[in-house]
Amino acid sequence: MKPILFNFTDAELEQFITELGQPKFRAKQIRDWLNRGAPDFASMKNIPEGLRQELDKNAYTLPARIVKKLESSDGETTKFLLELNDGEQIECVLMRTTYGNSVCVSSQAGCAMGCKFCASTLLGLKRNLTANEIYAQILVAQWELRSDFASEKPIRPNGDANNNDVSHIVIMGTGEPLQNTENVIDFIERANAQMGIGWRRITVSTCGIVSGIDRLIQWGRPINLAISLHAPTDELRSQIMPINNKYKISEVMEAAWRFTDLHNRQLMIEYILLGHRDNSGETVLFNATPEHAEDLSNLLRGKNCMVNLIPWNAVDERDFASPSGNAVHRFQDALIKNGIHTRIRRERGTDIGSACGQLRLNNAKSRK
Ligand code: SAH
Repeated sequence: MKPILFNFTDAELEQFITELGQPKFRAKQIRDWLNRGAPDFASMKNIPEGLRQELDKNAYTLPARIVKKLESSDGETTKFLLELNDGEQIECVLMRTTYGNSVCVSSQAGCAMGCKFCASTLLGLKRNLTANEIYAQILVAQWELRSDFASEKPIRPNGDANNNDVSHIVIMGTGEPLQNTENVIDFIERANAQMGIGWRRITVSTCGIVSGIDRLIQWGRPINLAISLHAPTDELRSQIMPINNKYKISEVMEAAWRFTDLHNRQLMIEYILLGHRDNSGETVLFNATPEHAEDLSNLLRGKNCMVNLIPWNAVDERDFASPSGNAVHRFQDALIKNGIHTRIRRERGTDIGSACGQLRLNNAKSRK
């Protein structure tokens, strides 16, 4: 298997380059390109053509290579399907927003959590990603933003054509980050140190692994925490999220409030609105009735949090339906009446299958 130069230490990279009969300073030039996310050696403009070809025969640049790139019709969202050295595929999404450029990264290849509405978990967990494999995803996005700039791509929702850096990271792609906590922490430390991304612009989203939240508390960095709640009672939540059999809602929330109290941060609650189709084709609300709004309000009342109401992205294999826009607004109004901050998450890139794990799943199906 060809080595991945990004994974080398500086000393190892220097040795690799000098063994090819090259001067040491080439190693530093190559490192600069790697740190900028160069997807191939052909992009390394200050490296002589002959050496670029030789490197191409003997090595890879990054631990993740683009297999597919999909662009939403509004030009704001780019979704990447990436292949790792062992052939595993992962997804990441670049979102150009009014507040900056946000990248949603995966923390695992596949997922073991078994949530009933999600595509990522359908093929099970393959393995944890290394910190470098998570980092490579933001480098891919960073390189893409630079090429937007070079091509003078007109669409910048924030109206700032010079805004071509990754500014926000959400660890909300495929996988459960708190099942791969040490690599995720390593990755965040590096994104902060090397890319200068502030703690407060980084969000870890979890289905509620209490031991992992405790580890984040002990680690002590003031990042954002998001809890994928999706139901206000244990009885309901256990039906759609197997993790609830291990950690009850009360335990998850207790750990989450300890985290946000420590850093004086707002907790993000994710809540997908789910329904079922009955025999007559009508949608029956699963977790979005007025009673559920009351239960959710009781759980969150007086706390510093924001509920993100998320329209369910349809997954063929999953037997749910999205409630109507009216039902969503009624649910939101009930929360607001109880003093709970909420917003309805804007759907991004639905035309390119941007729901968790869809691209990876569809590609795996077509590879069979
Ligand atoms: N395992 C972590 C992070 C990955 S999932 C977590 O559970 O938070 C990221 C978010 O997308 C979670 O809130 C998840 O519940 C949600 N999600 C999964 N499938 C979805 C779908 N089909 N439509 C909308 N949101 C989905």
